[in-house]
Amino acid sequence: MKGFTTKVVHNDRQDSIEHGSLHKPIHANVAYGYEDARDLAAVFQGEKSGYSYGRQLNPTISALESKITTMEDGVASVCFGTGMAAIGTTLFSLLRSGDHMVSSAFLFGNTNSLFNTFGKMGIGVSFVDATSVDAVADAVTENTRLVFVETIANPRTQIADLRQIGELCTQRGLVYVVDNTMTSPYLFQPKTVGASLIINSLTKYIGGHGNVLGGAVTETGCYDWSVFPNIYPEYQLGEATKWGITQTRKKGLRDLGASLGPEAAHHVAIGAETLALRVQRQSENAMAMCEFLHAHPMIKKVYYPGLTEHPQHRRAAELFRAFGGLFSFELQSDVDLWEFLNRLQVIVKSSNLGDNRTLAIPVAHTIYFEMGPERRASMGIDESLIRISSGIEDSEDLLADLSAALN
Ligand SMILES: *Cc1c(COP(=O)(O)O)cnc(C)c1O
Repeated sequence: MKGFTTKVVHNDRQDSIEHGSLHKPIHANVAYGYEDARDLAAVFQGEKSGYSYGRQLNPTISALESKITTMEDGVASVCFGTGMAAIGTTLFSLLRSGDHMVSSAFLFGNTNSLFNTFGKMGIGVSFVDATSVDAVADAVTENTRLVFVETIANPRTQIADLRQIGELCTQRGLVYVVDNTMTSPYLFQPKTVGASLIINSLTKYIGGHGNVLGGAVTETGCYDWSVFPNIYPEYQLGEATKWGITQTRKKGLRDLGASLGPEAAHHVAIGAETLALRVQRQSENAMAMCEFLHAHPMIKKVYYPGLTEHPQHRRAAELFRAFGGLFSFELQSDVDLWEFLNRLQVIVKSSNLGDNRTLAIPVAHTIYFEMGPERRASMGIDESLIRISSGIEDSEDLLADLSAALN
């Protein structure tokens, strides 16, 4: 068994590439011609493998899908134009009106917005504190089809009870969807806790340079779809451990059309090569900044799974290779949020995360602004909370920047 980065870097060469190219070329192409019309028909009917139309398959995208499947140790992946497209299309393909799902209440804001929309379309969603399996188990009803969690929640870094929720889903025959964006497959492979489907926003750590949007879903092979009532007969092809991803590609990608473009796939594939190097460095930088802030009198509270006081520190240490690049902190009440942020010279005031640059954002005034002060308070979002996504800069420069701004 080769190591993570060796496999990622050499994955394209599992198949022979045109002209011996080391990278899979960009196939800027929509349709495919066949000499024998019977072959065209066989591809459409799923009897022969081949390409038909660019919305659902493209050789450059296929190469990236294979790379992501390798990173997650899965059986198949489908790529999308964004991470939200991956979540939306996957769930839209697999759920029907009258179904119910249990979701972590600590969710990426846009996913929360999407699930509220599902609620208005007849799919019941219960939001629970997924740091404890009991809350998830209590919310399961006879119509529950699926459980959705993130690994490390943004911005407060709560960690779902990933292993026990996996066991619960196995016992109850529920599809277990894990959004692995925040950890990335380098820090954590959700298959190890029994995930059925894994979501990655390729925009964040996998693409890694803040220059491309993308998303993916990976089938782990852990779930037997023959017990799942919503797979159409025409997608019950081959092994039952792949029906979910088949329906997501054939029905979901066709119906919703949220496809990844070949140029974007190329950018993501280049980014993926350095995932492990970047995330290692980002984790080290996050740890150094958190230790500095934690000891600083002007800082009220620091949220980072790498700190021993974090409520799920031991869970994170057991499951993840490192603690990741995302953390947040609150200022003491006499420190002016805007003054502090505006004095930062290296750290950039920006949304997004997983970039090579360290980014800081005042959470309550931006990504959580729309929900208002009461909802924020109920979610434990302090008005002074600052989220940091650590980059790959030299650690001393980041510490000096924080120190100068606070002084
Ligand atoms: C950013 C993010 C998404 C959505 O990804 P986009 O590519 O921005 O659509 C989904 N889940 C998590 C945890 C994210 O951080």
